[in-house]
Amino acid sequence: MVSRVIPVDAFDLVIFGGTGDLAKRKILPGLYRRFWAGQMPAESRIIGAARADLDDAGFRKLVADAIDEFVSQDKRDEAMIAQFLERISYVSIDATGTGGWDQLKAMMRSGVVRAFYFSVAPALFGAIAERLSSNGIADSESRIVVEKPFGRDLASAQALNATLAAHFAERQIYRIDHYLGKETVQNLMAVRFANILFEPIWKAQYIDHVQITVAETVGVEGRGAYYDKSGAMRDMVQNHMMQLLCLIAMEPPYHFDPNAVRDEKLKVIRALDPVAPQDIVRGQYLAGGGQGGYIEHSENPASRTESYIAMKVHISNWRWAGTPFYLRTGKRMRARASEIAIVFKEPPHSIFDHASGWRENQLVIRLQPNEGMNLMVMIKEPGPGGMRLVQVPLDMSFADALGEEGADIPDAYERLIMDVIRGNQTLFMRGDEVEAAWAWADPIIEGWEGRGEKPQGYDPGSSGPDDALMLMHRDGRRWREIRE
Ligand code: NAP
Repeated sequence: MVSRVIPVDAFDLVIFGGTGDLAKRKILPGLYRRFWAGQMPAESRIIGAARADLDDAGFRKLVADAIDEFVSQDKRDEAMIAQFLERISYVSIDATGTGGWDQLKAMMRSGVVRAFYFSVAPALFGAIAERLSSNGIADSESRIVVEKPFGRDLASAQALNATLAAHFAERQIYRIDHYLGKETVQNLMAVRFANILFEPIWKAQYIDHVQITVAETVGVEGRGAYYDKSGAMRDMVQNHMMQLLCLIAMEPPYHFDPNAVRDEKLKVIRALDPVAPQDIVRGQYLAGGGQGGYIEHSENPASRTESYIAMKVHISNWRWAGTPFYLRTGKRMRARASEIAIVFKEPPHSIFDHASGWRENQLVIRLQPNEGMNLMVMIKEPGPGGMRLVQVPLDMSFADALGEEGADIPDAYERLIMDVIRGNQTLFMRGDEVEAAWAWADPIIEGWEGRGEKPQGYDPGSSGPDDALMLMHRDGRRWREIRE
């Protein structure tokens, strides 16, 4: 298949926090891969900014090391890396100080896209936004990219939005949720709105329920103190899983346009019901397999923060009334697997005996590993001896279907950074969306805090607490097995 990489406009991208973990693991290697693929024009510049006293050569060394560590061997070409590094420079800046801003201003060029990636703690967003604007470094066409977490409740998200709005218009603000940069997540929209097949049955009348699972095998060791202030609800559900839920549940936007798409997502969030306490299960992983449990990793013996959550969510609108969405996410689970399963209802009348192997149709969208989709359908089991049914997958693995290009799926970050340069906000969260998601999440969190509830322990390498199984069983349903 012919490559369809379309170069973006030339840009100056400043990465505040350019020496940090996210920059080294995702942003800088991702930019190199886009350069390697021919999408980043040669006239573009990347400027690292942090307090560390580095010169250009020192920062280039850091970037070269990051490429070495995080870019696959087949894309590490010496000549290409050298050309990429020529486009890299560094300025030492304290976000809260006065030094370095004149130097940064002098480095910026006119006639290219200006983007500023805030890969720093959210407490610094305001200081950087204010200085970019008061020093005349950002103009009315410049873009800023802000990382998660975007607030820890509605009040802090509103304050953050107000701080950014004091210096930048909403059309300039790109709030990253890297789940939206995943190929399969965008494919959800393509499958729903570019085919006649699914949309007519995409409703409560035909869909029994939806399961969204994000399971990780890692624990919180190394960042337990940070995680303990957040927990699975704030870290995963309010943002990433909410975005997945929106893309499954939203009405067709009138056009694939940033505000049209985000308007529809916002309507879904506003239609979410409060979640009853009996529809929530929270867990904490126990010690096992030679490793400490959540309590040891969080360094907080009295911690009531959840490393696992499962919940049943209802959307009060015509399309979804009566069809629950079950969400679950956890750490130290049996496998690393993220998927969405749309589980369809039984046919209205069966001419076959159900005992002969009937199972419900499912559309399974795999986010990781092996991005792709599977449609589980019933067919006749081959062979003589009567009509026995068997469920088989119609496998739509992108790597198989699209050859090399399908296998070479760009990382979510590199795709989203290119969208920033293109000026396309479709895959970024709008301020009102984030606030609506917190307005839904806040009372749920306040509820269990007010009731003083402790999460249940669950074994590492398991599927989570037993009560999470009960959440489904009592509705006559079952979770899909968590497996890679
Ligand atoms: P990190 O490793 O701690 O890096 C922080 C960066 O900010 C460093 O480059 C640091 O360099 C710089 N910095 C700190 N204080 C500064 C100041 N006053 N002025 C200028 N620069 C300053 O953090 P990170 O993991 O890269 O995370 C960055 C942001 O991304 C955070 O908001 C985080 O929540 C978010 N995020 C990270 C990940 C991830 O996988 N790491 C994933 C999702 C979201 P100096 O100390 O030299 O100044």
